[in-house]
Amino acid sequence: MIEGLKDQISRMMLQRPHSRELLASYEALLGILQGVKPSIPDPTIDSKIVEMKQKEGFPLFSREDLPIDLDSASKALRWFFLHLSGKQDRLEKAFNEISRRLQEDENLAEQLYSAVLARDMAALQEIAKQWGLPSSMLYFLAITSLKPSLSVIREKCRPLLSMEDWEQGYCPLCGSEPYMAYFDKKGKRHLHCELCGTEWAYPRVKCPFCQNEDQDTLGYFEPEEEEGLRVYFCKRCVRYIKTIDRRAFEKETPMDLEYLATLHLDILAEEEGFK
Ligand SMILES: [Zn+2]
Ligand SMILES: [Zn+2]
Repeated sequence: MIEGLKDQISRMMLQRPHSRELLASYEALLGILQGVKPSIPDPTIDSKIVEMKQKEGFPLFSREDLPIDLDSASKALRWFFLHLSGKQDRLEKAFNEISRRLQEDENLAEQLYSAVLARDMAALQEIAKQWGLPSSMLYFLAITSLKPSLSVIREKCRPLLSMEDWEQGYCPLCGSEPYMAYFDKKGKRHLHCELCGTEWAYPRVKCPFCQNEDQDTLGYFEPEEEEGLRVYFCKRCVRYIKTIDRRAFEKETPMDLEYLATLHLDILAEEEGFK
C-alpha cells in the first residue's frame, strides 16, 4: 500500500472515530492488495472510435468487457478470506470454508465476478446465500479485489478519454453509476465511479441518476456537527449521493475511504426513504 494512504487512514480514524474499526479492516485488505500485480494489456481501441463513443455518450467499456486480470483478482479474494478466517468473528467458519473452496474450484470466483460485473443482484444474492455471507459484504470484497486491475486500466485509458467533454451521470470508462461525489476547492462538483474509481465533473443542480434539473425536487441534508458532509437527494427518482465538500477540509481524502467513513449517512438517507 502506498505510504500516503496509510497516513490518510490514520488521519481519517481520528476524524471519524465511529468508523475506526471498519477503516482498520479496510487497511488490512489494502495491505493484501499490495502483493497483487495484475497483468493488463494496453488498450487497442482506435482513437476515432473512442471519440465517437464519447460524443454519443457511450462509455469506453461495459462493466463486463473491462480487461480485468481475473486470475490476480481471484488470488486476492482468496487471500482476503484467508485473512478474515484468522479473525475472531461470527463468520469465521464461513470465511474458512470459502477460502478452502476457492482454492479447490476456480469456477467459484468466476461466477462471483460475472454476477458482480453484470450487477446481477439476484445471482449475487444466490451466491451469498450459498457462501453464508451478507451479499453486500461479498459485493464489497469482490469489488475491492478488482482494485489493482481497475487502477491499471484507469491509468492506461486516461489519455484516451477527454473528460471535459463528458456530460453523463455515469462513468466514461466503465458506464457504472457514481457512488460518491465531492466539491473541489472551487466548489465544482465531481462524481466518483462506484466500480473503477474514475472521477468526472458534473453540474451541481442536476441529478446524475435521472438528469432532473428542477430545483424544487432536488435538495440536500447534512448531519449535525459534521461540517463538509452532505447527502444530495432527488425526489423524482428517490436516489441520493453522499457528497464531501473538500473546502471544509485541509487535506483531500480518497473517495473509497470517505465512503467507508460515512456509512452513517447511508442510514440517514435510507431513513428518509431514499435509495
Ligand atoms: Zn467506472
Ligand atoms: Zn433523480
